[in-house]
Amino acid sequence: MSGLDYLAEELEQLKREGRYRLPAVWESGSDVWMELNGRRVLQLSSNNYLGFANHPDLKRAAADAVYRYGAGSGSVRTIAGTLKIHDELERELAAFKGTEAALVFQSGFTTNLGVFSTLLQDGDVVISDELNHASIIDGIRLSKAARKIYRHKDMNALEDVLRASGQYRKRFIVTDGVFSMDGDIAPLPAIVELAERYDAIVCVDDAHASGVLGRNGKGSTDHFNLHGRVHIQIGTLSKAIGVVGGYAAGSQALKEVLIHKARPFLFSTSHPPSVAASCLEAIRVLRSSSELVERMWSHAHGFRKALIQAGFDTGASETPIIPIIIGDAAATMHFSSRLLEEGVFAQGIVFPTVAADKGRIRLIITAAHSQDDLDFALEALKKVGRETGLIS
Ligand SMILES: *Cc1c(COP(=O)(O)O)cnc(C)c1O
Repeated sequence: MSGLDYLAEELEQLKREGRYRLPAVWESGSDVWMELNGRRVLQLSSNNYLGFANHPDLKRAAADAVYRYGAGSGSVRTIAGTLKIHDELERELAAFKGTEAALVFQSGFTTNLGVFSTLLQDGDVVISDELNHASIIDGIRLSKAARKIYRHKDMNALEDVLRASGQYRKRFIVTDGVFSMDGDIAPLPAIVELAERYDAIVCVDDAHASGVLGRNGKGSTDHFNLHGRVHIQIGTLSKAIGVVGGYAAGSQALKEVLIHKARPFLFSTSHPPSVAASCLEAIRVLRSSSELVERMWSHAHGFRKALIQAGFDTGASETPIIPIIIGDAAATMHFSSRLLEEGVFAQGIVFPTVAADKGRIRLIITAAHSQDDLDFALEALKKVGRETGLIS
C-alpha cells in the first residue's frame, strides 16, 4: 500500500460495521417539506425549531446586508472584521440572555473550543456530564485541566467529585442545557446549588435550549429562573435561530478575556454581514413575540403524547427533540428507510453516537409543521411501527 491507499480499508471497515453513510443531498432549501431525489418528503430531523431558516424577515435582513455591506467580512474580528452589525448582534444577544455581554463565534462548535481552551488552565478541574456534546469534549481536550466525567444528570456523582476537588485551583461544571440525543433537560437548579456550595463555576451549553426553553426561548437559565447564578451561557445561532454561529454570554470581563485569548475568535474570519444581520433579526422576532415558541411546544407535547399512546418508547424526551427508541442498528436503519418510502425523513441514530441497544430515530417537532404535517407523520410512523412489530 502506498500514499493514502489505506483509507479504502478504513471505509471497508465502516461498511462492515454498517456505519458507512454519506449525507443526503437535498434539492430544496431547509423547510418543512423538502425535495430529495425528486420527491417531496416531510422533514422531521432538522434543528429548524422555529422555522427561522427560511423566515421571510430573516431572508430580507440577510439580502439587505449583502447589498449594504457585501458578501464577506474581509478579516478576523480583531483586525478589520468587526462591523457594526456584529457589534449590534452581540448587544442584542446580551439583552436577550439577560447578561452583561455576549461574544459571537463562527459556530457553536468553535465557541466551545474557544471558551474551554481559554478558561480551563493547568491546576483547574472540569466536571462534565457524560452525555455532553462532542464540541465540549474537544474544547476540554485542548486544555491542561484535569477532567472528571459524571453519570448523566447524576447529582450524587457530581457532588462526590466536587467534594474530592479541594486540591484544584478552580472547579468548572459543564452541562448541555438540553441533551441532543434524548431531548431531556439538565437539572440546572441542582447543579447551581452544588456549584455554590463547593465554589464552582457553572457553564451551560444551550445549543438545543436557546430559542426553545425559557420565556421567548431565552434558554435554560431563564427557564429555571437562575439569572445571575450561571456564569457562562453558551448558545448557537445554528439551531433554533436558523442561521449559523455560536456565542458565549456572561460578564464583560469574560467577553474581553475571550477576545484576547480564544483562538477560533482570533484566528478565523468573522461571519459575513448577512449572517450577523439575519441572526439579529431572529433575536428581534423572538423578543417581540412568544408565539412561535409556544406553537412549537404545543406541537411537541401533542406529538409526544400521540406517540406514547400509539405504544412507542420516546425515552426521556421532555422537549421538541423526541427519540423513538428502536434498538439495534440494523432495525433502526430499516425503520428510517421505510419511513422515507412513506414520505417522512427521520434520521436513524445508532452506535457509537448512542448506546448499542438504544438505536433510535430522532424527531424534532417544530413550530413550522402544520397539524396536517404532524398527522401525516404520525400515520407513517404508526404504519411502519406496526409493520416492523415495534408497536401492535
Ligand atoms: C449542535 C451543538 C453544538 C454545535 O453547534 P454548531 O453551531 O452547529 O457548531 C454545540 N453544542 C451542543 C450541545 C450542540 O448540540
